[in-house]
Amino acid sequence: MRPVTLEQRTYYNPVKPTIDYIQTRFDEYNERFFSSSLPPIPIRLSHAKGFLGKVTFTRKRKGLFARYQNTDFVLRINVRIDLPQEVVDDTILHEMIHYYIAVNQWNDTSTHGELFRHEMARINREGNRHITISHRLSDAEQAQARIHKGRVVAVVTFADGRTGVKIVPKQIRHILAWDKQARRAFGCQLSAISRQPSAVNFQLPLQGVGGLSAITWYYTDDEYFAKYPSSTALRIYLIDDPQSLPLANAHRLSLADGKVRLILNPDNNLRW
Ligand SMILES: [Zn+2]
Repeated sequence: MRPVTLEQRTYYNPVKPTIDYIQTRFDEYNERFFSSSLPPIPIRLSHAKGFLGKVTFTRKRKGLFARYQNTDFVLRINVRIDLPQEVVDDTILHEMIHYYIAVNQWNDTSTHGELFRHEMARINREGNRHITISHRLSDAEQAQARIHKGRVVAVVTFADGRTGVKIVPKQIRHILAWDKQARRAFGCQLSAISRQPSAVNFQLPLQGVGGLSAITWYYTDDEYFAKYPSSTALRIYLIDDPQSLPLANAHRLSLADGKVRLILNPDNNLRW
């Protein structure tokens, strides 16, 4: 698995790989770097977020007392973002190293452990490549992909059972100010609950409305939240079905003593 992180990087010559392209590279690299020892592998294109490439497989036991075997390999290359050809090729090589280790039934010390790093260094040296553990996206790649744009989301629960969301600019002072402002606005007006119908995107001006039960803060790159404006205004968008909010992979923010602490979700590579 090759996760995505962010960094400045020169951007040029973007390509969108096809299955044929990946297959050609795979065959070429298999011969050059793995003595053609890698068996054929199904190749799929992926549009999922959060990784550039991935080799998946299942662990099966052949007989009752036999050892586990890795089988049913699939190589996935992400085509959601147009990346420079060199990055695409290095991603294919990165995944081929994972495949090499798994298909030989070796156990590495970790996902990118000693075996992986050894092979990565060998191929970088022999092929003058720049394979890395995780690819770093340039600003241009990031802007083009429009993924991993982190948003700070406040999920506001009202005492009457309704739930709303608010996107706040991600500067610490805005987060702290908005939280304080919202709690103050609600604290003394519990009787003035608006009876307006709740609908998606319905704007509820906070002033004069009471009944706040909780504010939970998240940091997420889910594009679902792109439809809500980001501002410091005390304005909350009511959600019909709060259970459907895509926050399972979001990082949590904890606010205390004038500080904002990021509680990292291990399933998300998004960085602040
Ligand atoms: Zn990896």
